[in-house]
Amino acid sequence: MSPTPTHCPYCALQCGMLVGPGTIAPRDDIPANGGGGDVSGGGALCQKGWTAGELLATPDRLTVPLMRAHRDAPLQPVTWDAALDRIAGEIRRIQRAYGNEAVAVFGGGGLTNEKAYQLGKFARVALRTPNIDYNGRFCMSSAAAAQNRAFGMDRGLPVPITDIAAADTILLAGGNVAETMPPFVRHLTAQRERGGRLIVIDPRETPTARRADLHLQVTPGTDLALANGLLHLAITEGLIDKAYLDERTTGFGAIRTVINGYWPERVERITGVPVPKMREAVRLLGDAANALILTARGAEQHATGTDTVTAFINLALALGLPGRPGSGFGCLTGQGNGQGGREHGQKADQLPGYRKIDDPAAREHVARVWGIDAGDLPGPGLSATELLNALGMPGGPRALLIFGSNPVVSAPDAATIEERLAALDLLVVADFVPSETAARADVVLPTAQWAEETGTITNLEGRVLLRRAAVPRPPQVRGDLEILAGLAGRLEAPGRFSAEPAEVFDELRAASAGGLADYSGITYERIVAETGVFWPCPGEGHPGTPRVFLDRFATPDGRARVVPVEHRGPAEDIDADYPIYLTTGRVLAHYQSGAQTRRVRALLDASPEAFVEIHPDLAERLEIEEGSDVRVTSRRGGAVAKARFSTAIRHDTVFMPFHWAGAARANLLTNPALDPTSRMPEFKVCAVRLEKS
Ligand code: SF4
Repeated sequence: MSPTPTHCPYCALQCGMLVGPGTIAPRDDIPANGGGGDVSGGGALCQKGWTAGELLATPDRLTVPLMRAHRDAPLQPVTWDAALDRIAGEIRRIQRAYGNEAVAVFGGGGLTNEKAYQLGKFARVALRTPNIDYNGRFCMSSAAAAQNRAFGMDRGLPVPITDIAAADTILLAGGNVAETMPPFVRHLTAQRERGGRLIVIDPRETPTARRADLHLQVTPGTDLALANGLLHLAITEGLIDKAYLDERTTGFGAIRTVINGYWPERVERITGVPVPKMREAVRLLGDAANALILTARGAEQHATGTDTVTAFINLALALGLPGRPGSGFGCLTGQGNGQGGREHGQKADQLPGYRKIDDPAAREHVARVWGIDAGDLPGPGLSATELLNALGMPGGPRALLIFGSNPVVSAPDAATIEERLAALDLLVVADFVPSETAARADVVLPTAQWAEETGTITNLEGRVLLRRAAVPRPPQVRGDLEILAGLAGRLEAPGRFSAEPAEVFDELRAASAGGLADYSGITYERIVAETGVFWPCPGEGHPGTPRVFLDRFATPDGRARVVPVEHRGPAEDIDADYPIYLTTGRVLAHYQSGAQTRRVRALLDASPEAFVEIHPDLAERLEIEEGSDVRVTSRRGGAVAKARFSTAIRHDTVFMPFHWAGAARANLLTNPALDPTSRMPEFKVCAVRLEKS
């Protein structure tokens, strides 16, 4: 049997793979000109991709439905009918007693477009609840909110990834691609070989920062001030593009007063970045014929995330970058389908095609496709953190259905989330491994995983790809679409809930038609023939849109919005009791909550446990020895992990990866303070104290 061309289960690069029984290899259909083939991964896989096959045979794979008779009883195998009947019966009972909104749904940025779409439809049509959100709220929402505000549309990268190589200067704020998506570095290498320059903004000297021409080692939580400071310098050094600003933007006049307050010496005091380095960064950007400004989670996961991304967009607009071929502003999406997952309706405020749920025309269009009355569609629901914190509270949801997410490890202030899950009448988790969240469920539904089912994902470029089934699934396992169809039937939901990915995709195409993320011209056949199609693609004769905003932005007047934003600092600053900053992130060998990668032997061998990265000078002051257990305490609680010394981190900051469960969970410490616009929590900075454990 020849291997099937498909894509990796993990990050948003969605590297191409050839998968057969027991084999994985990079795809070899890579044209040198960047058209077709595995463009995003450049024909490479990282260690996570190479070892993904082990997931298919993980010894603790969930293969039958599990259910517990009551909260203190153990999970026991049951039939699918017993599991689905119990869920449907409990949903009916809870909704009769407490109203439709008492049942909530939580999705994931790793779900295929078809699943994300069907989950949104299931919540609104079968459950008639407004309360659906997903873990992408933790990941992508601030960049999305800022791009929507400035450009009228959010597509992670506005240009194909191959444009990276052609950029004379790249500014990457808060991204560590050398560890999170290593094949991306090939594009940076190609850029360097052309003479291009790379600037990295990061509190840590990460492997990505080490390969940069310029590293701005910013104090955690001060990226916004730095971006405003760079714009100040761009203005004073005469580097802004006045003709572009006049022709393609509005609001630049109003920003000048704000930016006047970000003179270099003040910004150095706030950010810790020396003035000469700021000047060099601005010159590298201002002198470049083509430049890209990119943000990632380091700049975005803050209570000021939307405004921070806006500050970088303002800088890009002042330099005349967005909407020019080979230049622009973009964000690096993290999760496998982080882009598509935020377009088709699993977000609390959204309908398919990136439509807003409170837009009457959007509601009419989608209701027509779904065969219901627009008046029967619920309005916006609670965002992810608010939803999780409302579980089991008076007036809050009493049942939660989770698909493709592990909030016990990945949500901020995770101990509180555990308490809220325990307060539910019903917790249902659909997953293919017994994650830390599944272990707490009343009903666990065993689902198919990446290489066992077909569906589309949209990678970080906005390119829609087909992830094809390559191996058979265990006999009793069902796909999420089958599960939703089974529940919708039991709940006598109106309309059709197909379990076939191709049928669901056709419905998604119709529902997205005319929306910002218009997939109506994309078919499975085209994706295969063209190796991906970029949205928007409003007709089968349309070529797709590799580069957006070339003629106009997606705002009513076609102009981008320059929005003044002020530095406000972290929601929780250091003080005498909690004198050290904690920042969190990923390591090379693991992905997100680690529910998948902690089950792969080679990845566990490479990175077996959590750690606290600490500067040796700080460790000496605190009498902490390398390799010893360190207790890290924040206002939310405490975590314990081994000390790992590094001179790559600032003296006032420690770093913990967030992939581990139990006492080493970084999210026992993190601050659930939310960005007021995107509702994204502040994962990237909180105040802690350290002591020997
Ligand atoms: Fe590519 Fe990301 Fe998979 Fe690594 S984890 S192989 S970078 S898609």
